[in-house]
Amino acid sequence: MNYDVIVIGGGPAGCETARHIAEKGYKVLVAEEHRKIGEPMQCAGLVSPRTLKAAAMPDGLIINQIRGAFVHSPGGEVLFIRDQGAYALVIDRSEFDRKLSERAQSAGAEILTGVRASVGEFFSDEASVKLKYRAGESTARTRLLIGADGSNSRVARRINAPEAENVIRMCAAEVELKCPEKDMVHIFLGREIAPGWFGWVIPVDEKHARVGIGVSGRDKYPRFYFKRMVEAYPGIFKGMNIVRSTGGVVPIGLLSRIYGERTLLVGDAACQTKPISGGGLYLGLLGAELCAKVAVKALSKGNLSTEFLSEYQWLWERKMADEIQTALGYRNIFLSMSDKEMDTLLRFFSRPLWQSIISRYGDIDYPSWLAGRLSFARPWAEKFFMAGFKKVLMLGSTARL
Ligand SMILES: Cc1cc2nc3c(=O)[nH]c(=O)nc-3n(C[C@H](O)[C@H](O)[C@H](O)COP(=O)(O)OP(=O)(O)OC[C@H]3O[C@@H](n4cnc5c(N)ncnc54)[C@H](O)[C@@H]3O)c2cc1C
Repeated sequence: MNYDVIVIGGGPAGCETARHIAEKGYKVLVAEEHRKIGEPMQCAGLVSPRTLKAAAMPDGLIINQIRGAFVHSPGGEVLFIRDQGAYALVIDRSEFDRKLSERAQSAGAEILTGVRASVGEFFSDEASVKLKYRAGESTARTRLLIGADGSNSRVARRINAPEAENVIRMCAAEVELKCPEKDMVHIFLGREIAPGWFGWVIPVDEKHARVGIGVSGRDKYPRFYFKRMVEAYPGIFKGMNIVRSTGGVVPIGLLSRIYGERTLLVGDAACQTKPISGGGLYLGLLGAELCAKVAVKALSKGNLSTEFLSEYQWLWERKMADEIQTALGYRNIFLSMSDKEMDTLLRFFSRPLWQSIISRYGDIDYPSWLAGRLSFARPWAEKFFMAGFKKVLMLGSTARL
C-alpha cells in the first residue's frame, strides 16, 4: 500500500485537503476511525453563508436561517441584534461532512472508515503509517502525511507542534425546545454562567434547538455549567428535553508551526479556528486549500523537506494571522472584564446607533471587523476598551513576573 499522501482524519478539513490533492492526480488515502463519515456530530452546525459558498455546498443543507441574537449579560441586560439578511445558517453538519468525503472520493481519493491510523517511522524518502482495523492491522507507506485528526491531534504531537494557546471544553446537546423566534439565537455571558466563553441556543426549527456551553480552564467542567445555564434561564429552557448529548474541545490560538518532517497539519489539528466563536469549519476549509497547495507543489517538485513545507506556515499566517491575533486581543479584553463591566457594555450597545453598527458590520467569520468599529467609533467605547487593554497588559506583566 503505497500512497503519495495519507490524510489521517476524515473530517471536513481532511476530506477537503484530500480532494484538492487527488484532483491533481496524486494517490491519496483518507483514514477515518469512525465507521461513518460525519458521525457522531460534535458541532452546532452554525456557519456563515460564505462557508457554504466556499465549500460549494447545495442550499439543501440549510436547515434554518439566523437573522439575529439575544445576548444575555450576567446581570440580566439583553442586547437585541437583528438584520433582514441571514447572519448565519444552521446546517446539517453530518451531511456536510459526507458531501465533502463523497467529493474527495469522486476526485480519486480512497476513503477508509473504521480505521485508526498512527504515524510509524519516517524514512529518507517516505513515512510509514499503521492502520488498525477491527479485524487486524496493516502498514501503508506515503511520501507525505497530513494530520487532519482534530483537536486532540496525535500527528501534531508526533511532530512536536506547539500546543494551542487555549482549549475550550464544550458540553452540548440536540434538544426538543420551544423556539418562538426560530431565527434568533441566544448567547449567554458571565463568569458564573460560562467562564471564559459563552453558552448558546441555536434554533433548528420551532420545536428543536442545539444548545451548548463552553468553558476555558482546566478546573472547569462544562457539564456543570450547562446545567447551571439551564437553571439560570427557566423562561428560555422550560420543558427542554435532551435528545442527544454531545461535546468536544476547540483549540484556539495561532500555532507557530503547523508543519514538520514530511507532515502538514490542517483544521483543528492546526488550530485553524476562530478565537471568539470557536467555529472551525470556515477556517478549516481555508486551511485545506493552502495545505493542499503546498502539498501539490512539494510532491510535484519531489521536495518534501521540512524547509520546503514551511511555505504552508507562511501562507496561513499571511491569510489569517492578523485576524486571529486581533480576535485573540479582543478575547483577552473580554476575559479581563468583570460581570458588572459586561452588564455596562451590553447596556451601552443596546442603544440604536450601536445596534445598527452591530447589524451592519457583524460577521461571524471576521468578528474583529465589528470589534474594531465598536472600539474606535466613539470616545466612550474607546475609553472602555482602552481600560480593557490596560488590564490585559497589566495581567501580562504580572504573569511574566
Ligand atoms: C460542541 C461543538 C460545537 C461546534 N460548533 C461549531 C459551529 O457551529 N460552527 C463551526 O464552524 N464550528 C463549530 N465547531 C468546531 C468544528 O466542529 C471543528 O472546528 C471542525 O469539526 C474541525 O474540522 P476538522 O476536520 O479539523 O476536525 P474534525 O471534524 O474533528 O475531524 C477530525 C477527524 O479525525 C478523526 N480521527 C482522529 N484521530 C484519528 C486517527 N488516529 N485515525 C483515524 N481518524 C482519526 C476523527 O474521528 C474525526 O472524524 C464546534 C465544535 C464543538 C466541539
